[in-house]
Amino acid sequence: MTRAESETLLRSLGLRPTPQRMLILQAILNSPGHICAEDIYEQVREEYPHINISTIYRTLELLKEHHAISVTDLGQGSVLYELLKEERHHHMVCLCCGKILEFDHRFLEPLEASLEEGYRFKAQIDHFAIFGLCADCQGEEDD
Ligand SMILES: [Zn+2]
Ligand SMILES: [Zn+2]
Repeated sequence: MTRAESETLLRSLGLRPTPQRMLILQAILNSPGHICAEDIYEQVREEYPHINISTIYRTLELLKEHHAISVTDLGQGSVLYELLKEERHHHMVCLCCGKILEFDHRFLEPLEASLEEGYRFKAQIDHFAIFGLCADCQGEEDD
């Protein structure tokens, strides 16, 4: 993502495109998958050496509130950030080998419908992590 694109995105969210916000957004967008706050901090610091980690966290919180990014605990010790796209995806995290698999939002649509029907609760499932055992690890106990 270019500077111009991150600026457009911030404006579309009604946020002032400050240099810090643009750099933080670009760090998230340029990472191939999920990124933690520490890695964002390292990247932003290359161009903006005086940035403070608390500014990073505040900006991430702001981006999350505006539904620009998802914040998910994938069991790796620190929460991970990712840009939210139209197409939702979620993850299965293996508790044994740590593998992270992706699954499509349509698997959660029946759950959303049941919650609404049962509790009149409108679930907003942006980016979800389910922990368990992957296919490769399920045989382990028999060995
Ligand atoms: Zn993800
Ligand atoms: Zn596994």
